Amino acid sequence: MTKTKVEHCPFCGKESYYHQTKSMTLRYKSHPITVEQPGYWCNECGEGVIGGEDRKATQKELQGLRAQIDGLLSPDDIKLIREKLKLTQQKASDLFGGGVNAFSRYERGETPIPRAASQLLQLLGAHPNLLTELSKSSIKTNPNKANKGKMAATG
Ligand SMILES: [Zn+2]
Repeated sequence: MTKTKVEHCPFCGKESYYHQTKSMTLRYKSHPITVEQPGYWCNECGEGVIGGEDRKATQKELQGLRAQIDGLLSPDDIKLIREKLKLTQQKASDLFGGGVNAFSRYERGETPIPRAASQLLQLLGAHPNLLTELSKSSIKTNPNKANKGKMAATG
């Protein structure tokens, strides 16, 4: 890792204050989770400041670890399944709810995915053919009311 020397530590005044990564162990629901957290860390006193960009660097990983503990899909899993289902983030948000940017937030680890959406996505990942069932119900205006020829199931 490259260390960038900045200035004197604002906490102890020593010249050991760098932008660097530090192994940090946090607790989530009594489970310890460790991430390599970038930030301005002092090598003398161990104090540090984590900026907005630094936080962003670990948010996805942290969300993934929390998701594991909660039994939810991780940001990477969400993306993987969404792409497997050939859905855009927008289309996925339409189908599963949560607002227009929901999937973009889930996949960046900014917001945890709701349990119901996570479970549904997991089912669809295992049985992609069920997506047609879901898509049907979300189409509000279907000009082809006639049901003949429509029942040729694909799955
Ligand atoms: Zn210090």
